[in-house]
Amino acid sequence: MHGLHPQKHSLRIPIPGRDDFKTSTRGWNDDAKRDERKQFQLLFYKKYFSEQYNVPEDNVDVEFVILKRKIWEESEFPQSRIQEFAPPSGKIKMKKALTAIDNFLNECFNIDGSYKDVSHSATPSKSCQWCPYNERKDLCNK
Ligand code: SF4
Repeated sequence: MHGLHPQKHSLRIPIPGRDDFKTSTRGWNDDAKRDERKQFQLLFYKKYFSEQYNVPEDNVDVEFVILKRKIWEESEFPQSRIQEFAPPSGKIKMKKALTAIDNFLNECFNIDGSYKDVSHSATPSKSCQWCPYNERKDLCNK
């Protein structure tokens, strides 16, 4: 990126998905907003944007832009197809995200980058329905 200065920048991340945008049927509910896996993704963007462009982390604001596929047609009030959500992204949350990624790397990879040959505990959730291993009893014992 050209011409960045160490001042306040706002970074809006369309979540990768179909047509480069993550869509949601009717937007994110509180559970989706509290999902730390989603939040951490954005915190990593913040960290690496800061490092890559030499902008202090404190000067980088991040937020999700969620595109709704459906709106309430019968609503008495104007409806927006765009929902914006800025997750917590302060120092405590950032430390938690970095600890999570460090733990992941330590659990899964050897120092040379090869995979560790270990069994990991399954952590079933609603996301299993999208997982390519959902029907693979040989790979996931959930
Ligand atoms: S199916 Fe198994 S591997 Fe996939 S998300 Fe669920 S628990 Fe994890």
